[in-house]
Amino acid sequence: MFQQRTHTCGQLTKEDTGKKVVLNGWVDRIRNLGGLIFVLVRDRYGKTQVVFDPNDNKEVYERSLELKNEFVVSITGVVRTRPEKDINLGMKTGEIEVLATQLEIISESEVPPIYINKDEDVSENLRLKYRYLDLRKEKMQKNLIIRHQVMKATRDYLSSQNFLEIETPYLTKSTPEGARDFLVPSRLKPGTFYALPQSPQLFKQLLMVAGFDRYFQIARCFRDEDFRADRQPEFTQIDIEASFIKREDIFNVTEQLIKDIFQKTINEKIVVPFRRYTYDDVMNKYGSDKPDTRYGMEFIELSNYFEETEAKFIKEELANGSVLKGFIIPEKAENFARSKFDELVEYVKSLGSSGMIWISLTNSGDIRSNIKKIAEREIRKLIENDIIKKNSVMLMILGENSKVNQILGQLRNKIIKQEFEKKSGFDFLWVIDFPMFSWSEEEQRIMAEHHPFTMPNLEDFKKFKDIDPLKIKSQSYDLVINGYEIASGSIRIHDRTIQKEVFEVLGLTENEIEEKFGFLIEAFKYGAPPHGGIAVGMDRLVSVLVGEDSIKEVIAFPKTASGSDPMTGAPSPVSKKQLDELNLILLNELTNKEE
Ligand code: ASP
Repeated sequence: MFQQRTHTCGQLTKEDTGKKVVLNGWVDRIRNLGGLIFVLVRDRYGKTQVVFDPNDNKEVYERSLELKNEFVVSITGVVRTRPEKDINLGMKTGEIEVLATQLEIISESEVPPIYINKDEDVSENLRLKYRYLDLRKEKMQKNLIIRHQVMKATRDYLSSQNFLEIETPYLTKSTPEGARDFLVPSRLKPGTFYALPQSPQLFKQLLMVAGFDRYFQIARCFRDEDFRADRQPEFTQIDIEASFIKREDIFNVTEQLIKDIFQKTINEKIVVPFRRYTYDDVMNKYGSDKPDTRYGMEFIELSNYFEETEAKFIKEELANGSVLKGFIIPEKAENFARSKFDELVEYVKSLGSSGMIWISLTNSGDIRSNIKKIAEREIRKLIENDIIKKNSVMLMILGENSKVNQILGQLRNKIIKQEFEKKSGFDFLWVIDFPMFSWSEEEQRIMAEHHPFTMPNLEDFKKFKDIDPLKIKSQSYDLVINGYEIASGSIRIHDRTIQKEVFEVLGLTENEIEEKFGFLIEAFKYGAPPHGGIAVGMDRLVSVLVGEDSIKEVIAFPKTASGSDPMTGAPSPVSKKQLDELNLILLNELTNKEE
């Protein structure tokens, strides 16, 4: 039996001087100072300096020569105050050290394939293959501790507001959230499959029908999506639903929850209520439904300055109903050489624009622009009216309004990444009044913008459902933090007829509705309360809290971009026996057999 710790490695202070203590932990680093050996012992709580002194205890000193990084040890010793010059105030235990009187090597370690005690650029694959070592790093430990605190704050706050945590199944039927399902074959019913839930959406609505008027769950969701930046095939949501509520109630609960989480985890006081923008507003101002407004650069409509321009292509397009919009990059004219503008022109062309107009006004008042020759008069007007100020750059796009918004939005994001240091602080906003439906170019069909259980704006719905469904707004909302969609929800449909009509707009036949969602429509026959809710993306929320760009930094065992886990090797082939039990034959084996 090893000697059990009396203290953690982050606990001892000057007050403990003279005490005999036992520490358990990992060897973080060893310094051999000709005669004295200093070992930093680490556990999740911190690090403590242990001294091995041959003059004090020769036998223990000699054993300490066997130590290597990442050995697991139990050390008994006496706490002493460090000499003034060695005090390290940057460390919790920096005022003391432990003079070792006993050393027990509990477990040895080979040279680890990645450094634990210093930052280095190692490949993601290596980090994930040895994730248990990667997770020993101070930063990763801190991230997971904050993640725990977020979950605890969530449970505490929502419980205090009468929300009940109720689990819903993982083995279920498809819930459409716009992604592909992960399927699990059923052994007992060969040829049939469960789907892993893309979210608990339908179950939480059924819990409302069941009368649990305030529900939440820290729920795992599964979506089989192709790689898009920083997505995980399984991720966690703080899933919330409530009955007899209005949108304002959901906003209020979410704002208070977020406020509590920020306060309790990083001690940041945030101001509620959050600002609100309509979807049309954010698209017109920032060309994105999740803008980071800390960087400013709102779009300005400039068409009226150019209506009488001699630049023919602009004048003609404007006369044909196009708009000319742009945004100003302040204080940056010096950063923009001609070649940079040329690159940006190529970039917007790759997004489908016919070109980009740029104007830059230097500090000394020189104008540079690709339309200077043909539209100097208009440029001067923009300067006189203080729209373009000294040392700033204006980028403009001409075309159909929504396309211009979309292209300018991507251009603005690129400029933010390229030209600005990452800003500190938190920028919260709600986006409301989303369209109910959108047109998917890829699938050539109408899709639900949020999901098909969202309550449409009923006036719009009556008016446009048969003639122009894309004009219908919905009662859904998103919460955006620092340019990330952090939460998303809606008031739901609780009426069978409306629900059926929405499915019909989406092109589902009577049979498909019955087969896929019959149980929901059936439930609405038996007294469905009005209800609504929201789901907060936990991984993203934690990454914003700890200032990480990637959600992988706040998930203990994430997958790579291709959905694999280099540590366990998942996904991996299974045995023939397992396939037989599931009544499955792999296509390549089938072909082999036929040959
Ligand atoms: N189920 C939705 C989602 O996963 C959230 C909600 O509407 O509550 O995005």
